[in-house]
This record gives sequence, C-alpha cells and structure tokens, in this order.
Amino acid sequence: MTYKMTVPQIKEAIREKLSHSFGVSLENATYEEYYKAVVLIVRELLTKGRTEFIDNAEKTGTKQVYYLCMEFLLGRSLRNNLYNLGLEDSFKKALAEYDIKLDNLYEQEPDAGLGNGGLGRLAACFLDGLATQGYPAMGYSLRYEYGIFRQKLVDGWQTELPDFWLPGGSVWLQQVPENSVEVRFDGHIEEQWHEQYHSVRHRDYTSVTAIPYDLCVAGMDGKGISLLRIWKAENNKFDMNLFNGGSYMRAMEQQAMAEVITKVLYPEDNHTDGKMLRLSQQYFLVSASIQDIIRRHLFAHSTLDDLPKLAAIHLNDTHPVLAIPEMMRVMLDECGYGWEDAWNIVRQTVAYTNHTVMSEALECWSIDLFKMRLPRIYQIVEEIDRRFWEEMRWKGVEESKIYRMAPIGDGYVKMANLAVIGSHSVNGVSALHSEILKEDVFHDFYMEEPQKFTNVTNGIAHRRWLNQSNPKLSGLITDLIGSEYIYDAGKLSGLLRYKDDEAVLEQLQQIKRFNKVRLADYIKKTQNDRVDPDSIFDVQVKRLHEYKRQHMNALNILATYQWLRENPNADFTPHTFFFGAKAAPGYYFAKQIIQFIAALAEKIRKDDRVNKKLKVVFVENYCVTWAELLTPAAEISEQISLAGTEASGTSNMKFMINGAVTLGTLDGANVEIHEAVGDENIILFGMTASQVEELKRSGYSPRLHYQNNQVIHRAMDELLTGFDGQKFKDIFNALLNEDRYMALADFESYAEAQRRAQKLYLDQKSWNRMSLVNTACAGRFAADRAIREYAGNIWHASPVPPVQNLSARTLEK
Ligand SMILES: *Cc1c(COP(=O)(O)O)cnc(C)c1O
Repeated sequence: MTYKMTVPQIKEAIREKLSHSFGVSLENATYEEYYKAVVLIVRELLTKGRTEFIDNAEKTGTKQVYYLCMEFLLGRSLRNNLYNLGLEDSFKKALAEYDIKLDNLYEQEPDAGLGNGGLGRLAACFLDGLATQGYPAMGYSLRYEYGIFRQKLVDGWQTELPDFWLPGGSVWLQQVPENSVEVRFDGHIEEQWHEQYHSVRHRDYTSVTAIPYDLCVAGMDGKGISLLRIWKAENNKFDMNLFNGGSYMRAMEQQAMAEVITKVLYPEDNHTDGKMLRLSQQYFLVSASIQDIIRRHLFAHSTLDDLPKLAAIHLNDTHPVLAIPEMMRVMLDECGYGWEDAWNIVRQTVAYTNHTVMSEALECWSIDLFKMRLPRIYQIVEEIDRRFWEEMRWKGVEESKIYRMAPIGDGYVKMANLAVIGSHSVNGVSALHSEILKEDVFHDFYMEEPQKFTNVTNGIAHRRWLNQSNPKLSGLITDLIGSEYIYDAGKLSGLLRYKDDEAVLEQLQQIKRFNKVRLADYIKKTQNDRVDPDSIFDVQVKRLHEYKRQHMNALNILATYQWLRENPNADFTPHTFFFGAKAAPGYYFAKQIIQFIAALAEKIRKDDRVNKKLKVVFVENYCVTWAELLTPAAEISEQISLAGTEASGTSNMKFMINGAVTLGTLDGANVEIHEAVGDENIILFGMTASQVEELKRSGYSPRLHYQNNQVIHRAMDELLTGFDGQKFKDIFNALLNEDRYMALADFESYAEAQRRAQKLYLDQKSWNRMSLVNTACAGRFAADRAIREYAGNIWHASPVPPVQNLSARTLEK
C-alpha cells in the first residue's frame, strides 16, 4: 500500500478530524487538538497498512514473531511514524498553511514510559527493526495507567510523581474489546479421571478480564508494521460465581483488586522483590498473550501441531517466563494434548533472552505465594520439575547439580531455571555477557546442552537515534554516501573514506556544535541553567545503579574540582559533565548518589574560581525524549560499569552512532565497540572482567586505596565534611568498607583516562576524526542486525515475501 498524501489532502483530513472528532474549527483548535487530529490520521494509515501486511503474511504462511516483555519504553511516536512513512515534510507544509509548527505538535505528546531503561527501550527498538525488515510481529505487554514515575529533585533528593500518560497517549491506542480474554487467579484445583481422560477444574477462582489495546509501529517506508498489544485489567462484572457461592465480601475485595494489576509499572531496574502484585502482573501478561496467540493460530489452522512452524514466542528476560507453564495449561486442560506432545511444542516455540548476571535480579517466587495465587500453574511447574529430575537422573547427572538446575528449590520457583528448561534457545545480549552465562550463571545447563546457548548483541533503532534525533548529521551522511545506510546501517562504513577530509571533519564539528547549542537552549528553558557550548560535553545517562558507578564519575569530578580550586589558572579545557538517572524509589543508596551529584553541581556552580571551567548538570527526569536531545550533543560517552556487570548497554551504541567517543571499561558491548573502532578511537580504562574475578578471589581491600592514594583520600574526606551542610557519610563508608563494584580499584585508571580525553580533545581535528570513525563503525549495532540474527538463528523466521511475487502467485491459482 502507499502512504502518499498530498498537502491539500492532509489539510482537508486535519480539518475533517478537528471538526468531526473534536467539534472545533481550524481557528479554535488548540495545539493538543491539532496533535490528536494528526495522530488519528496517521493511525488510520497504520491500521490499513498493518491489515494488508498481515494478510500477506498469512497468505504466504510467513512465521509470526511474538515478543513478550513487561516493558516497552516507547517514548514519543508521532515523529517516528511520520518519518518512517515518508510523510514528515508533507505534514509540515500542510500544518504551516494553518500557521501551526509540526515541532510544537511533537511537544504535545507525552513520553510513553512503559519501561525502566535499557531492556524496555530494546523491546521498542526491536518493533522498529522487525517492521522495517518485514517480519510480521507482535509485541505483548501491559497497559500501565502510570508509566515510570516523573522524577523531581527537591534539594537534591529524588522524589517521585505519578506519570499519568494516557490523556495525551491514549490517542494512539485502539481498544479491541472483541479480543478480550479471561485470566484466572486464586481458588483451588479439582482433578478427575474419566477412564483414561484426565480433567481439571479450577474452582472459586478470581476472574480478571484482559482487554487489549493496540498500537501500530511503522517500519521504514511502511512496508512492514509491527503491532504492540497491551492489556488492561478490568473487573469481570459478569462472573457471579463467588456471589452465588455466598462469599460476598471476598468477592467484593477480589473484584476491587482486579484493576490494580495494570495500574502502575514497577519502577525497579535490574532488581526484584517478590511482591504478589508483581507476580500477578507477570501472569496476567502471559496468560492473556498466550491465549491470544493460540486463538490467532486456531483461527486459521485446525491444530496446534504446526505452531512451532508458524509462530516464534520470545521471552524478553525472566519476567514473562510463566508463558511456558501457561502454554502447557492451555494445551493440556483446554486443547486435550498429552504432556509429551505439548511439551515438545512449547519447547520448539519458545526462546529466552537473559538480561543480567546480577544476583539480585534473578527472579524467584516463594512457593507459598505462587501456589496460592496460581494453583494450576504451580501444579504444572511441579510436574516440569518432577520430569526434569527424572530425566537428569536417567542421564546420570549428580544430585547436587540437578538441585541447582531444577525449577523448584529452596522454597522457591526459580524463573531463570524454568526459562532455560522450557525453551529451545538461550541468549545473552553481548559477546562478553553470553560467555559469562556459559561459564557462570548457566554453566550447569551449558554442560548438558551447549548448542542451546547463543549470543545476540543488542542493537538500536538507528533511524530513531540518528536520522530523527540528529537530522543535521544524517543529512551530511546522506550527502556523502547516499541514503542506503537508512536501510542497511552497515553502509555507514562508507564514511571512512572521509576520515582525512578536512572539510568533512570541519562540518562534523559544526554539526556537533549545533546540537550542543540546541541542548544548552533546552536546559536553559527547562531547568534555567547555563551551559557553555564551547566546553566538552561529557555525558553519563542511564538508570542509577551502584554497578554503573555514577559515584566514581562524581568522585573524580570532586577530585578535579579540588585540584582546580587550588590551581585556578591551570590549563584546563572547560568541561561540562551531564548526568541523568532515575533511582528505584526504594533504593536509598542510589538516591544518596543523586543527592551527592546535585550538591556537587551546586557547590561548583557557586564557586567563581572554577565555574568557568567546570560544570555539572543533573538532568531531571531522564527519559527517551531527553536521550534524543542528549545523544546528538555528546562528545564523551561515559560507559564505566565494573567489567562483568553490564550485560550489554545500549546508550553506548546511541552515543557512538552520533559521533561521541566512548570513555569506558571493557564491559558489555563496549568490548565490541572497541573491536569495531580500534584502540585509537576509544578511551579504555580499568580492570577487565577476568582481572575483576582475580581480584575478588585474592581479596579486595578498598581501604588500601583510601590509605595509599592521596587523590582518593582527599576526595573521600570531602564526602565526610560535605558541602553546604550536606554530608555523604554513607557513600564514604560504602566505598571504604565494601565498595562492591570496585570504584576505588578503578579510580586511578579512570582519572587518567579522563586526562587522556582532555588532551585528545585539544587536537580538534583528530577528535573529529575519532568522531567520524565512531559513526562509521556503528552499523553493526543497529537493531536491524540484531533482528536478522534472532530471525536466522533462533526464530527461523523470514520476512513476508514481496507483494509482487504474491500477486503473481495468486494469479496462478
Ligand atoms: C537507551 C536508554 C537506556 C539504556 O541506557 P544504558 O546506558 O544502556 O543503561 C535507558 N534509558 C533510556 C531513556 C534510554 O533511552
């Protein structure tokens, strides 16, 4: 289908929408109404395109990809869809004739924050990569009424405000009540045998209705369109079982509980705390989604036997792993399958991606809680466990090893074990991370089934993170090497031809300067703070976590500040350090680190001896829209996690493609960034993952660094004396006594890397060359490449064949 609309057609469509949907004239409509009118027009195009795309997929028997994830961190959608459909210019012109700026309409859209950080953003980037390359795909998630909280600093202390995104966001959503499904919780199970038939009845359950809301995501040119289906929990008003059974009060309570399930996104990143509501959310997502996937399949096919041929179900992290027992439940209890056949189908259909090696993020559910809330699912997990033991014993595996691998143990259901046992593929998200999974976290499993373990390094939607958020740079690239890189990011390597072209390098510098001014203006407007666009822009934006070591960055800034105030006339290139980070609301230490950064920023801002040269900005409420402004303006990308802790990182990729130089450790995908750009185009420091392991084995003493290193000593002491009455004793003690992520061990090397960066920056021409090489080598970190690897190696899926072939084939019939 074609998405072409002429300027007069667009003008008329807007007029019509304003009048029919909002009852306002062109003259009286608000920006918000214009925004919504434009979204409604785009939405209709997308729905049509999606229908045609899926019809073709079904006619050609193309495998469907179902991506289950508790989080999709979409950010804004309007610019993305207009850009991908090739309609941005026409809409800009049409609106201009009504005296409306398209950019102002973009600003009307809330940032859809249905995720915490990298994991959720990855899922969103993958919808783009799937659509652009023509894989028929659906994402499944929850329609949280409140997304990730809005962060507000009060005297440097993070406070959380609710993010009610629906007023501006729901215009993208199409409710599909006819596809609602029922999800059952609580109650008890009655089993019966009628001759050889086993039947199961779930009694006294709480019934919750899952109502789907659909949102389309256009791929480039709109040939493929992904669908994100998010479920809302509602009371099942028609279920009178409990009332009739006489449990009036319990019925009322449970009905009230139902809608709580999709009320709010859990704001913890890389952490779980075993709450009943969280378990309910997870089961609600997978039960509704699995029922929907099976319904869709049985609509066109008479059996589930061919499900593995026609559907791939992907579990993004352990959060949706109950999809495995849920699929078993539907096949056993509702479709009449026997265990063996059902289990084979499940295992051939499901694949799992691990996202972390942090022990506090490995999900476990207490058996008592699990059994009470999900009695039938617990029975099935028990049976998976029983059969697993049987099989492993038969294979001669030793008992202690089976115990470590089993899905049930120590009073818990272990979600990662269940994930590995119930799927045909397990992957990590960077080469290093996938190695660590094999050697450490899943070593026992790896020894049993090595072929199950693979790697797919993460990737980003480069059309969003380069073309849309940095139009000046993408314009220059298109002038130099043509526009093929938009479809095939590997083509960016064509830029390498210009790495000694002074005119090109000069243009790169001007574009960076433009983006720095754009950011500075925005910060002036939103936070009333001044930043100098001629200083180095050095950026660390990501969730706040001790392992990501924002405190190491801040401690080095403090040491630099101490040195500068004693040497105010020293030769020091002006340097602005940007931070943006949300802390989980209950993560006290992380909040103290934010407070420390904010206090340090204030102290330096007020110190006239140094404030022309040194500046710290804490960007409040870091989110996708902030990221889109910050990445094009960055010159140094801080990727400084302790080696062996960050699974991949994706902000490292966003910065790289925008020409920032990575200052980082050999952790996650930084290892592959280093491989791509070579030693001279990255600033590395710190221990490697194996050196970290070695140091852990031999015993790490942070106190020795405090005692023996003057710079560390002095900076840490100022944490104790504090500034402006604020002291940071907890941070001091944590560093001195434990320092779990070895910030002190890497400190000296980090400080030296910072000095190296300063020196490199002085030679602007060679810095610009580094910047060019980074952009040129970023192609392999495109989401398109990651999707091709998933499709080829894990899903065994192919794109929908081109429509021309299809019509030819249809004619033959
Ligand atoms: C890309 C992105 C992240 C991930 O950042 P990492 O540095 O890889 O942890 C987190 N939050 C937002 C808003 C992002 O856009």
